[in-house]
Amino acid sequence: MPELPEVETVRRMLENEVLGKRIEHVDVFRDKNVVTGAEEFKEAVKGKRIEKMGRVGKFLIFHLSGGLALVSHLRMEGKYYDGSYEDPVSKHEILRFRFEDGSRLSYLDTRKFGVIYLKKEDELMSAPPLTEVGTEPWATDPEALLKAYRRKKGPLKEALLDQGIMCGLGNIYADEVLYATGLHPLKRCPTLTLDDAKRIVEESSRILKMAIENGGSTIRSYHPKEGMDGRMQNALKAYGMVGHPCERCSFPLAKIRVGGRGTTYCPHCQRDEEHPFVVSVTGPIASGKSSVGRYLEANGFRRIDLDEVVRELYQDPAILEEVDRILGLSSKENGLDRKAALEILANDQKKKSELEAYIHPLAYEKAIEEAANSHADKLVYEVPFYLGSPIEEITNCLIYVEASQENKEKRILERGKNPEEALALNGSYPWLEAKAKANVVISTNGSIDDLVAKLKAYQYLG
Ligand SMILES: [Zn+2]
Repeated sequence: MPELPEVETVRRMLENEVLGKRIEHVDVFRDKNVVTGAEEFKEAVKGKRIEKMGRVGKFLIFHLSGGLALVSHLRMEGKYYDGSYEDPVSKHEILRFRFEDGSRLSYLDTRKFGVIYLKKEDELMSAPPLTEVGTEPWATDPEALLKAYRRKKGPLKEALLDQGIMCGLGNIYADEVLYATGLHPLKRCPTLTLDDAKRIVEESSRILKMAIENGGSTIRSYHPKEGMDGRMQNALKAYGMVGHPCERCSFPLAKIRVGGRGTTYCPHCQRDEEHPFVVSVTGPIASGKSSVGRYLEANGFRRIDLDEVVRELYQDPAILEEVDRILGLSSKENGLDRKAALEILANDQKKKSELEAYIHPLAYEKAIEEAANSHADKLVYEVPFYLGSPIEEITNCLIYVEASQENKEKRILERGKNPEEALALNGSYPWLEAKAKANVVISTNGSIDDLVAKLKAYQYLG
């Protein structure tokens, strides 16, 4: 869909081709697109000269002699083509002007959503559709923008697309502006600050001006004209770049849907308290999850260890009673009888499954609640039972840790536990499946310094 820079490119193209030409005749092949009436339009523009090509937001304006103006919105796929009036008529042609020199200008629209209005010049700016167009970014006051945006209940990206407040951003440049400002596409409008609004205005102006200089983006549905390609698509940092590493932090750009529109963004750079960057660390028992978690904690991540959450749950008498019932234990006096529990879990797959089905959902719920209450914008979950969990659904980046059998056994012994029993808890869990999903796979066999050096290579973990 053409956005402001593309429409400006079309305006400049038309200025070169049709300025000063006199309209001798108009064929309208599809009346519906001329919203002010096709018959009246054909009559009125006959004999008029195109005096000036203007643009307001994404509306093109043909200023005609005789105090008339033709207002054209290309919507999804509208395009203007020139040539000879004798050229065959395309099946997508909506209308065709014949100029007195025998040349033509055709309006084509494969989707047929484009609209054309005939207006009196002196009423142009005082009646719809142009009164419904907001200010262009370079003419937008950040305070006014903030006030208008904060009234909106939906996500920020939807506000950026609202042409009635600030005009000019469509799906492509809205993604670019969000990326440049570091704001999350789903940020709730009422949480915007004046500083956010200033950056939105600044980046919208900068990006749209750069796009105009580059002749717009030539992408899928939009070509101003055959043989005419914009160059802005080469300068896009977010739109169409899903899976590519972010230019700032190297994390792969992700795609989500916002109000039905595909939206590409960097989950690491575009974050806030309500939309944190979520890292999960998974891997078998004693593979070194905590070493990675602690490194991230030292780098500003809020750390939540699911094993710890489970241990806290066992302190709750009601939960402990249920755990005892499942395992056939009676450990009420001094909390959970860990040694006995471990032995049962290592040997009785049925009881292990039953316990997990009970305790894991409680642990996920508590962990996610703890994360929300922390208001952190970077989170790390150490989560041994990751696959299919609600944590998996909210994770942006998965780190898989692995260690040799020897190292795992050594670590378990250091914790005063029986390696054979503890490692039996890894059971038949599909570790390879978890590993295959990981953004980062890291071996923890070396020293801590070694591990830190490896993690430092990932900018977005720092
Ligand atoms: Zn980034």
